[in-house]
Amino acid sequence: MQFIDLGKQQSLIKDAIDTRIQTVLAHGKYIMGPEIKEMETQLAEYAGTKYCVSCSSGTDALLMPLLAWDIGPGDAVFTTPFTFIATAEVIQLLGATPVFVDIDPLTYNIDPDLLDVAISKVVEAGELKPKVIIPVDLFGLPADFPAIKSIAQKYDIKILEDAAQGFGGEINGKIAGSFGDAASTSFFPAKPLGCYGDGGAIFTDDDDLYEKLLSVRVHGKGGDKYDNIRIGINGRMDTLQAAIILEKFTLFPNEIKLRNQAAAKYNELLAESVVTPQTPAGYTSAWAQYSVLAKDAQERQAIQAKLKDAGIPSAVYYPKPLHQQTAFAHLNYQDGDFPISEEMSQRIFSLPMYPYIPEADIERICDVIKG
Ligand SMILES: *Cc1c(COP(=O)(O)O)cnc(C)c1O
Repeated sequence: MQFIDLGKQQSLIKDAIDTRIQTVLAHGKYIMGPEIKEMETQLAEYAGTKYCVSCSSGTDALLMPLLAWDIGPGDAVFTTPFTFIATAEVIQLLGATPVFVDIDPLTYNIDPDLLDVAISKVVEAGELKPKVIIPVDLFGLPADFPAIKSIAQKYDIKILEDAAQGFGGEINGKIAGSFGDAASTSFFPAKPLGCYGDGGAIFTDDDDLYEKLLSVRVHGKGGDKYDNIRIGINGRMDTLQAAIILEKFTLFPNEIKLRNQAAAKYNELLAESVVTPQTPAGYTSAWAQYSVLAKDAQERQAIQAKLKDAGIPSAVYYPKPLHQQTAFAHLNYQDGDFPISEEMSQRIFSLPMYPYIPEADIERICDVIKG
């Protein structure tokens, strides 16, 4: 059994992908070929945003809006310590200061009440300027954007939604990837909408930000790429990867439904054995991961060992919260600063999840956990 099996999906669109690749080989526009715009148009329409700007990875999709907003030394950017390193790495790369805020124990997403407190403390201390909140749609579940939005308005700061895992999720029919002043997603192969390499995209309704992102994507270009008006990056996505996304995207809305069916089956079979994930009313998860809680670290270890013996892979996202990572030691956080993130990192584990996971596999996995 595989943790994420991409084989079935490929078999459904193999011929179409081959044709798409041949088309790119024939026109030869490997950088910024016509498939890029075609994909951006389709994804913006799906997300319900004015613009989609494709880019080289989900990490660069976070970096580029921060660059466009001139985030740097002296700026505070708020996010959770219970996420993939990329979310906070980009803040540090620009010399800004990551300010961590603990998560809600039911959704694993940033806790809006604690966020409000954290921002007010930074304002009071007067050393850093609060500039951006980066909420993460962890495991595919959108963060609490209604609450986060009112906090952002209160302090007049921007929201950059990290929808690397959340793209395809929803709050009351509005698609994840559309909630911030900008949102970023990743097309890493294991994400809900993945390509066959690295790729990402930024979504926004903001005309000014859109123009700046186009510049940042190509070395801060002005009139052309040999006229440079700001510091940017080589942030383009390959035409071949856009061609692959175009075919994968034809399956995507149905795949979100299939992921939700798989999650519902797990929830039903595991209700008595572990703490199953909560989806608040009105929310739909994209189920990038199906994650459950054991009672404690020992029980998690025992369950993962049983699964391994049965040939079933499992994984831990995330075993070490970011405030405990060596890379952020200079921020001087202490153990105990973010108790919910720390507890979850000890208890959480994720089970095989992909749209085409056979129901019989889910039943076998749950039997092993219960056995
Ligand atoms: C995967 C991921 C990223 C980074 O995406 P890449 O395409 O791998 O650069 C950023 N944030 C979160 C939450 C992720 O899961």
